[in-house]
Amino acid sequence: MNTVDMLKGKTAIVTGGTRGIGLAVVRTFLESGAKVALCGSRQATVDKALAILKEENSEYCVMGIWPNLSDYQSVLEAFEKVNVVFGHIDILANNAGISARESIYEYDPDDFTKIMDLNVRAVFNCSKVVAGFMRNQGGGVIINTSSMVSIYGQRSGCGYPASKSAVNGLTKSLARELGSDRIRVNAVAPGVIKTDMVAALPVDMVERLVTMIPLGRMGEPQDIANAFLFLASDLAAYVTGSILSVDGAAIS
Ligand code: NAD
Repeated sequence: MNTVDMLKGKTAIVTGGTRGIGLAVVRTFLESGAKVALCGSRQATVDKALAILKEENSEYCVMGIWPNLSDYQSVLEAFEKVNVVFGHIDILANNAGISARESIYEYDPDDFTKIMDLNVRAVFNCSKVVAGFMRNQGGGVIINTSSMVSIYGQRSGCGYPASKSAVNGLTKSLARELGSDRIRVNAVAPGVIKTDMVAALPVDMVERLVTMIPLGRMGEPQDIANAFLFLASDLAAYVTGSILSVDGAAIS
């Protein structure tokens, strides 16, 4: 499908942009004409992703940042830099995330804090920073990566669905709060998607999960990136506060 120019003139920040779903979102936004700030946890992984993209197309307008997303000041400084370079920030994709599988009996309380720090606090920090920029420039779009388990829960690793339910709460609340500033806020809730996160699961668990997907396959990162593109674009001009499931009708 030709999506060239769908985001022409727009700028975006994508967290967790170094691989998996985030890298597919970065690539899709670039292919659609946006300038993108790719955000990762370390300079080395950011540089690697930038090199891959530049190899694919040397004309891509992409820069890298690696703030500590759990630290508000660090996010503010990094996003201010992007705002100076690009002149405005139109789209924020809050995509960085980690998962959990431990049973409650083995769950280290510090790990619960860690997952909340990245999956929830970072979404709050990044949204707070860009909301200020977007209000001043007359609008913008925030898209969060939720998960199908935010709705169903999961049998172990309760911190993960809890964090993604919080993402849904932030999405719906900020959509209501920021609508009058012309800022749309939505989330994409992926099902089982072929990335490192799923590669870390036991093979028999993944096979069992695939049998519960009516479309009969795992999702590709591009399936999720396509939903991000729709929500980022003017085609979704009247869509806000939505949690868009992209999961092949999976039953968790
Ligand atoms: P992934 O592990 O391939 O990528 C995770 C990304 O988050 C990477 O870019 C990584 O650099 C970044 N990240 C991890 N820790 C970080 C930290 N401390 N600071 C900053 N960035 C950090 O996973 P993915 O599958 O591409 O996941 C992307 C998002 O999609 C996550 O929010 C995840 O919860 C969500 N999700 C994934 C699936 C799936 O099946 N893969 C399903 C539902 C939701």
